[in-house]
Amino acid sequence: MVTAFSVAGRSFAATDADVVVVGAGAAGIAAAQTLRAAGRKPIVLEARGRIGGRAFTDASLGATYDAGAMFIHWAERNPWVQIARDLGVETASEPQGGGFRVFTDGRPMADADRRRRRDAFNQIDRRLETVDLTGRDMSIAELLGDLGPDSAPVAASGLLLSIGEESSRISARDYQRLWAGDDLVVPSGYGNLVTRSAAGLDIRLNQTVEAIRWDGSGVTVATPSGDIRANACILTVPVGVLKSGAIRFTPDLPTATRDALAGLHMGALTKIALKVEGDRFGLTPGASLLETGAPERMMNFDMYPDGKDIVIGYCGGDYARKISEAGPEEARAHVVDLLAKMVGAEFRKTVKAVSFPAWWTDPFARGSYSVCDPGHEKAREALAQPIGGRLLIAGEATAGGGAMTVGGATLAGRAAAATLARLKA
Ligand SMILES: Cc1cc2nc3c(=O)[nH]c(=O)nc-3n(C[C@H](O)[C@H](O)[C@H](O)COP(=O)(O)OP(=O)(O)OC[C@H]3O[C@@H](n4cnc5c(N)ncnc54)[C@H](O)[C@@H]3O)c2cc1C
Repeated sequence: MVTAFSVAGRSFAATDADVVVVGAGAAGIAAAQTLRAAGRKPIVLEARGRIGGRAFTDASLGATYDAGAMFIHWAERNPWVQIARDLGVETASEPQGGGFRVFTDGRPMADADRRRRRDAFNQIDRRLETVDLTGRDMSIAELLGDLGPDSAPVAASGLLLSIGEESSRISARDYQRLWAGDDLVVPSGYGNLVTRSAAGLDIRLNQTVEAIRWDGSGVTVATPSGDIRANACILTVPVGVLKSGAIRFTPDLPTATRDALAGLHMGALTKIALKVEGDRFGLTPGASLLETGAPERMMNFDMYPDGKDIVIGYCGGDYARKISEAGPEEARAHVVDLLAKMVGAEFRKTVKAVSFPAWWTDPFARGSYSVCDPGHEKAREALAQPIGGRLLIAGEATAGGGAMTVGGATLAGRAAAATLARLKA
């Protein structure tokens, strides 16, 4: 049923729907597919002009690369291994070779320093094996505290490139429960795979949800092109979007949900990709170069992955936040300066274009993935609790040990759809 009405000069078409899913990333797609398999008719509203959210294969530089998720983590239990198989999409082990070199302010790091560095990296796992976290949670920085001011920051710095966040803001308990396992890659693009998996769903692009009312018997979801009334809503926008207030809730979200959100925040893992042509400075395709002038300013570069004319820089934490806020041109200048010091000044001439999907400043992501604050390790479960019997929050942030990943988002989306079925039973 479609009716028309108008509020404050704006015209709305109020459409009746069964379930509205907000967000067409991995969680939203999984929720919609699970609902559809159960005979429901979900509508998916997506703010962007594309599907996939933080799983995005960027083709803007000609050669493609995954600007968001790249690895199918913990492949032994990750649903994307089977989804890829079902769709006939190849997955592969992470390409090895190419070599790994470490630099300090553009100069190769001495072997002894590299060894010290590698030993320091292993400290987090060693500490987690012996520390007693049953009494209280602590930050990873605190966990490493007795290593001293010289070694602790080095030990923690690897987290900038994995969690995308400073160690003082990461809950040790939450970190400890994250699933581990083998990593696979999708040569044709993880983002492309996620997009392809959504075929057949009713996904409406360019529909930014601005407000959600859940005070009546159902839910009313407001977008600039109209309101949609539904029996229930599964909300899969990132935690950063929920915390930003970009979606107005009437009534406000319950205290337990707001408390859960207060215990989570977004990390800032970021990739900056350069299109390059010409000289490759004797580097083997797939070489990895790590610049670590200071522990808090680490940038890893994947050089010519799979032989492509592309170089991808990664960084995280406050360093990535600053670069994101500076914008693509400054980001380009910064990474080109770093690489010119590392491989030679001639590198500048090979750079033809930049692509910088800065997740931290992206209004529909507001960061890379959710990080749990020390002392708030129950926040993920609390965030997934149904609201008013008709509103469910799902996404990587609610995925427990699978948090921060595409696989986790998919499992969380499926779980939310299953919860909805139980609520309606
Ligand atoms: C740089 C980077 C590297 C990563 N690497 C990996 C990796 O190697 N492996 C891995 O598994 N994971 C990785 N991740 C994390 C992974 O991408 C995410 O955990 C996962 O994609 C999240 O899926 P989701 O469905 O929960 O959220 P999203 O994919 O963010 O989907 C939410 C959707 O909601 C939409 N939306 C936002 N606001 C609104 C609104 N107001 N109205 C309507 N729609 C809205 C968004 O546009 C988005 O499409 C990485 C992420 C980044 C940023």
